[in-house]
Formats: sequence, C-alpha cells, structure tokens
Amino acid sequence: MENELSRTVDALPGLVWTAFPDGRTEFVNRRWCEYTGLSVEQASGEGWLAAFHPDDRPALLESWRGTIASGEPGEAEARMRRFDGVYRWFLCRASPISNTAGEVVKWCGINTEIEDRKRAEDALRVHEQRFRLVLDSLPTRVVLATPEGDIFHANRHTLEYAGAAPEDLKSWKTWIHPDDRRVVDDRLHASISTGKPYDGETRYRGADGLYRWFHVQGFPLRDNEGRTVLWYFLQTDIDDRKRAEALLAAEKRLLEMVAIGQPLPAVLDDLCRQVEDIASDCRCIVSLIDPEDVTFKWGAQQHLASSHLGPEDGSPVAAEGGPCGLAAATKLQCIVSDVASEARWTQPWRDRFLAQGLRACWATPILSSTHEALGTFTIFRSEPGDPTPFQRDLIGQLTHVASIAIEHARSDLALKRSEKGFRAIVETTPECVKLVARDGTLLRVNSAGAAMAGAPYAEALVGKNFYNVVAPEHRSRYVEFNQKVCSGTKGFLEFDIINLRGERIHMETHAAPMRGNDGVMMQLGVTRNITARKQAEQQLRRSAALMASVEQLSLSGSFCWRPESGEITCSEQLYRIFGIEPGVRVTRDMIAARVHPRDLHLLQAMIERAQDGKDLEYDHRLLLPDGSVKYLLVQAHATRDPQGRLEYIGAAQDVTERRQSEEALSSLRAELAHASRVNSLGALTASIAHEINQPLAGIMTNASTGLRMLSAEPPNIDGALDTVRRTLRDGRRASDVMTRLRALFRKEAVTTGAVDLVEAAREVVEILRSEIRTRRIVLRLKTADDLPPATGDRVQLQQVVLNLLLNAVEAMDGVDDRPRQMLLSIGRDAGDSVRLAVTDSGVGFVPEHAGKLFDAFYTTKGEGMGIGLSVSRSIIESHGGRLWATPNESSGATFSFSIPCHAHSTAAADRPGATAQVARADDEQSVRNL
Ligand code: ADP
Repeated sequence: MENELSRTVDALPGLVWTAFPDGRTEFVNRRWCEYTGLSVEQASGEGWLAAFHPDDRPALLESWRGTIASGEPGEAEARMRRFDGVYRWFLCRASPISNTAGEVVKWCGINTEIEDRKRAEDALRVHEQRFRLVLDSLPTRVVLATPEGDIFHANRHTLEYAGAAPEDLKSWKTWIHPDDRRVVDDRLHASISTGKPYDGETRYRGADGLYRWFHVQGFPLRDNEGRTVLWYFLQTDIDDRKRAEALLAAEKRLLEMVAIGQPLPAVLDDLCRQVEDIASDCRCIVSLIDPEDVTFKWGAQQHLASSHLGPEDGSPVAAEGGPCGLAAATKLQCIVSDVASEARWTQPWRDRFLAQGLRACWATPILSSTHEALGTFTIFRSEPGDPTPFQRDLIGQLTHVASIAIEHARSDLALKRSEKGFRAIVETTPECVKLVARDGTLLRVNSAGAAMAGAPYAEALVGKNFYNVVAPEHRSRYVEFNQKVCSGTKGFLEFDIINLRGERIHMETHAAPMRGNDGVMMQLGVTRNITARKQAEQQLRRSAALMASVEQLSLSGSFCWRPESGEITCSEQLYRIFGIEPGVRVTRDMIAARVHPRDLHLLQAMIERAQDGKDLEYDHRLLLPDGSVKYLLVQAHATRDPQGRLEYIGAAQDVTERRQSEEALSSLRAELAHASRVNSLGALTASIAHEINQPLAGIMTNASTGLRMLSAEPPNIDGALDTVRRTLRDGRRASDVMTRLRALFRKEAVTTGAVDLVEAAREVVEILRSEIRTRRIVLRLKTADDLPPATGDRVQLQQVVLNLLLNAVEAMDGVDDRPRQMLLSIGRDAGDSVRLAVTDSGVGFVPEHAGKLFDAFYTTKGEGMGIGLSVSRSIIESHGGRLWATPNESSGATFSFSIPCHAHSTAAADRPGATAQVARADDEQSVRNL
C-alpha cells in the first residue's frame, strides 16, 4: 500500500509531499525530486527549505508554522528553485490528516506552479500602475466608479482641484454646487440603470472655494460578456467657455437692448448686473461724461448703491479725481492693484474705498469711435490683485458695448433733437413743404401746405394726387417737372394751383430729388405762395408806368439815394433833367458838377442834413453844360431799407418856368410896391417936410441960443453945452427921419428874416407922427407881452403897416362928429402867428364892398390909386399869412394881418433889448406921449 501510494503520489502531476505532525518532511514525490534536483533524503526533515528562494523562506516558514499550530489547512506562495537554479512561483498548500481522535497524524501538501498566474498578476499590477499614472497625467479630470455608481477613484487633477485626498472621495457629492446636486443625482441614476452614457454640465467647488463649470461625460466599461465593469467619468473644465458664452450672451443681450432703443440707464444697469453675474467676485460701476461741460455724470451701479464710489455728479474730469478721473483724462486703463498701498491719490480717497472693503479697483475709459472719452467702466474687488486675462477680456468687451450704447444714446438724442427741431421747422414754416411721388401722389405735406391747398389739415391731402390741384393749363408742365425731379434733377417751377376752395394761387417751387427708405425717388418740394408778389409786381409795373408819365408831365424825376454807399438810382426823367446820358452810373460828383456854383453850398447843406436822417427839401439851380440854368425843387423822404440802412426816396422837379414867372411876378410886385410906397410917401411930403423942419428949426434956435450964451460976459458955458446937446438931439432926429424914409424908398431885393413887428411898426408910426398930429388923431398902441418875432421882409411888412395906417388916417378925414381915434394892436395869433390890427373910427365900408377893397385899382378916393391894399395883401400872402378887413360895430373899420412867427426865434421876452423898446400891453399910451 505504501508503495502503491508512493507510486500514485509519484504519478500526480504536482509536487506532492507529506510531513510529520511537527512539520518535518517525511516524503516528497518523484516529480518534486525531479523538479528541485534534490533527493527524498535531502528534502526530509528541514531539508526542503533549501528548495525555496532564500528571500521567501522566512515568510514561508512562518506561514507553515502557523498552519501547523492551527491544525487547519493553509497555503503560502513562494519561489522554488528548479534543478537548473531557476526559481518559479509555486502555491504551496498543506492539509492535515487526522485520526479518529481528531489528532493530526500527518500533513499532506501539494505545490502547484503558479508562475504564469504570478506573471499575469504582476503584469496586471504594472498595467494598473501605468493606467493610474496615465490617468493622473491626463490633463482632464477622470473619476472611476463601480457599476453601481460608487466613486472609487479620482485622478490626481480631480483631487488637486478639490483639494482632497483619495479617502475624501466618499464625500465627493459635497463638491458639487448645491444647485446642481439634484440634477447630477438624477442623471447618474438614469445612466447607471440604463447603462447609457452620462452627459452633463456641473459646477464643482475648487480648493479655493470657488466653483467652476465642468462638462462631465461618463461611459460604462464592459467585459467580454457585456457586463459593466466600471464607469469612468471625464470632467472637462468649461468654465472659461461658460464665461465666454455668458459674456457673449451678455453682449448680445445688451446690444439688443441698444438696438430696440432701451434707455441708456437701463442698458448700463443691465451691463453692471451682467458683469457681476459673470465675474461673481467683482463689483462694477459706469460713470458718464457730459460732453457739454466735461464733468462726470451718474451712469450705473449695481451693488454699491448705498455708497456711490464713482466720481461725484458734476465733478470735473481730472486725473487728480481718482482712478476714473485718471482713466478718463488719459484715456488709458488705470489699475489699482491694492488700494491700501496706492499712493497716487490722497488718504481720504483710500479710506473711502477701504471702508467699503474694496482692495482692487480697475478703471477703464469708455472711448468713442473718434477716441473721445464717453465715460468710465470701473470694477472693484474685495481682494487686491490685477485683472485676470478673462477679466481683461470681460472689461474690454463690455467697455466696447458701453461705448456703443452711449454713442447710440447720444446720437439718438441728437437725432431726436434734430428731428424734432426739423419737424418743428417744417411745421412752422410758412411755406408749403411736401413730398410727391413720381405718379403725383402726395406722400407728405405740412400744415402750411394744407392751408394753401384749402384743406382743413395735412392728413386730408395725403394719398391724394397733387396733379389734380395744379391749374389745368399748367398741369402737363408740372407733371414733366415732377418726373424730372424724381429722376434725380433739382428744379424750379412757377405754376398755379386751383385749391379746394376754388381759389387760384400762384406758386413757386424749389424741388430736389429724395430717396425714400424703400429706395424709390420722390420729389421734396418747398413751395411758396407768390400771389401777393405777383400782384405787387403787376401793381409795380403799372405804377412805374404811371410814375413815368406823371414825371414826364410834371417835369419831375425820382431818385433813391443811399448816403452810406453813395449809391444813387435815378428815374429816366431825372437823367433828362440833369442832362445825363440814361443808364450812366450817377455819382454825387456828377450831380455836384451840374449844380449852379452859387448853389453848391445848398447841396453841401443838404448832404450834411442827410447825415441826421432828416427829410430834405431844397431849392437850387443847375448850370448845365450848355450854359442853361434850371431851377430844381428837391424833396426827399428818409427811410430805412430792410437792412436798416438809411435811404432817401425823393423827387426833383424842374421848376424853372415857375421860378421864372414867380421872379417876374415878384419883381413886378416889388415895382408895384415901390410905386405904392412912393405914392404913399408922396402924400406925406408935407408932413415929412414938417417932420424934418421941426428939428432943423430946433437946431437953428439952439445954435443961436448957444452962440448968445458963449458971447455973453462971462460966457454961459453950461447953458451953451446944454444947447449943443439939444442941437445934437435934433440933428439926430432929422437924420433918423431921413434914414427911415430912405429905407422905404430904396428898391431893395426881398430878404427874409426875423422881424420884430413892434419895432418895425413903431418906426412907421414915427414917419406918420406929424401927419397924425396935424390931423388931430389920437393913436394908441397896444402890444402883447412875450411877442416872438415874425418871419419876413422888414421893409415889405413896414409898407403894409404904412398902408394900413395911412388908409385909417384918410378914412377919418371927414369925421368931425366923433373923436378921431386909431388903435394899432400887435399880439399873438392862433397857430404860432403874430397879428397886427389897425382900428379906426373913420368912414368904414359897407360889408358888400369888403371883397372888393383888396382888388387892384379899387378906390373910393378921388386921388387914390387903389393899389395899396392889393399890394399889401400879396405881400402878406407871400409871407404865408393873410390880410383882411372887418367893419367896426360902432364906426370905422379894422384892417388886420396875421403872419407866422419866426421858426428859430425865441419869444421876445427872451430878448431884453426888444422888450425895452415895446410898450407893454397894459400900458396904453397915446402917440403924443411917445
Ligand atoms: P387908395 O387908398 O388909393 O384908394 P387902397 O387900395 O389903399 O387905395 O384902398 C382902396 C379902397 O379901400 C379905398 O379907396 C377905400 O375906399 C377903402 N379903404 C381903405 N382903407 C379904408 C379904411 N380904413 N376905412 C374905410 N375904407 C377904407
């Protein structure tokens, strides 16, 4: 049996052995010996150990001892040395053989070569190590999970990102953003249960506590039978992409807001909100710059509302004002990495920021397309630092969007303003502004246009065909014109319309082609109602023709003179009067060359007067090149042209004939007057002789008295001196009489000036003095106070006074039944005139003869000439006054004249010399007392 067992054991393919209960080897089979090259003897006892690798022996021995002590089967792995010295791995298993009492009586063991398995295991281990190495070195995050979904491995990146160790993997769900956990759970469950790949985007918390977005893809790994062995998950960091997407979305949204015309504050507010959403650790403000006064204006701010950190509203854009001011002033980004150590601005500035817990501040100018600073975009952070590339990108992009929004708002405002202004102009313009389509349809028209067309409001006309309003005879011309304009040519046309009220209106239109939004050309026309102008033109033409014939008939020509430019425009007739070739440009020198040299001073005076812008009226003569003399009466009215320049519109009348006849008349009148005076004075010869004789007699008497006094013993010197004085007085009296008479007899040219009527009358009275006295007449003189001088010729006026006084004297010739009384009164008359009246108590006249008295050669006197009153009246009338006679109530008559006062004279009261010579009104004196 032993041998049989031995043979059986030997035949076994494994290396079989037996051992005593204490562990000593009892037997090894042949294969064992063959393999190790040891004999049974060599292996017995403790000898078998030599068949094992020295490194494995201690562990093997220890395991074997443990097995023996336990009495239970045991196994151990160790390398056995083959006979040729090569070690191979074996699994050594030992099982106890027990007797019925349960005691181990023997150990039986078998060593099975496991070299292949070991190799495979090693290879797997190496493979696994490599796999992990590969996983760890993958730039992406990889997580492995059991088929049930329990995470059992995460690669290095995953752990590093989370700041976790492999053992923390159990709590991997806490790394997920709370908002994403449910979705992850649901998705994971769905994938595990269905075996379909996992796909999702999830935020995972990093070691810095911040979440980033990851794209997570999970795939099942299956064995040959298709069973899921594990799940592997790839997590790709898509945070930058997500942010870029968010940035892009924000930009898109903001640009949409701009495009649909959202107000600028709403756009900027949204911008700030979006920035803070995308870059959650940032705070943002936008400040605007007012282009008017270059100051900061409130823009937008999200979370800093409690304390505004941007520049003060209205503060100037200046580098000293802080980061925003510096950025706006220099148009460069201003980065304050750490507010605490910032030295560019003063302490209060830093304190303000630090108090808000802000450490970094990055201000970026918002620049327009023309590089103008529109505002600033500023980001604040509670941590010091510079912007990350993403943040730079964010700032860059959104600053650009802000610039678009601001520029859009500005241009929108400008457009609205200009459009509003333009509409207002179009609406308020008195001219018709209209848009006409090529086919004549009225597309738009303003209120003025509607009013012209006789429509109640503009809308009533829109859509109607404008051609229908055009007067039929002008229609084809207008259609042609409209089509020409709609083809791109500007144009001008005069035409008539018959408006809705049936009125014909003359129109003048300036039109330009305009392309509509649809690209179709139309006519933009500005049309003016020229009916009034047309009528005025017609009127003007008529009146010009009339004027020309009037000028021709009246021998007058009109002119327009602008003193400032010296420009003179003359009518045809005036050219003729001046003897200038029609059409020649008339100058002042040309006129001066034709003015009579003796009247040049008048022209000069007229020019000087024109400086004051006063109306002009002058008489002067022309001495024409042919030696002929013309008299001109020039009258011109001063006006201002629309530009406010002085302009004289006047007429010059050729009054040569009139002047000549006037001159003839005047010389005739002078002759007549002289004759009348001589005649009157002739009648006075006796009294004049007496008047002269009297002082002469006095002189003679005085001379002889004086002689006597001087020849007395002793000579009476004082008496003689007295007589000499009297002689002188009488001589002067005689000489005065002669002077006055000479003046009246003189034939002098008429001169006009201020005449003190009282004094002039008094002189006449002096001449008549003896006549009056001889005829026993009482003359009283009554003069008003403050009497201004009259205008006229002194001698002529004296002649009138003389005539009236003489007539009065003569009228009282036959009066013996009543006192012969005369009153000479001089006083003011209405309308700045002076009145002189001679009242007598003579024969008077019957009222029926009152009209005849002034006729020439009417006389009731035997030796009368009947020209005194006629001459007197013409004198007074030539003085611009009148002479009239009224019968007195009781007896006699009153002859009065009234002439204008001297224009430039002051009242007589202002001339002390004058008053002294005139008797006061209340101081009536008889001529005897004079
Ligand atoms: P003459 O004295 O030569 O007649 P006048 O022309 O001076 O010529 O007078 C015309 C006439 O008017 C006088 O003849 C006289 O009849 C009348 N007349 C003039 N003065 C007076 C007077 N004071 N009272 C009455 N009749 C007068």
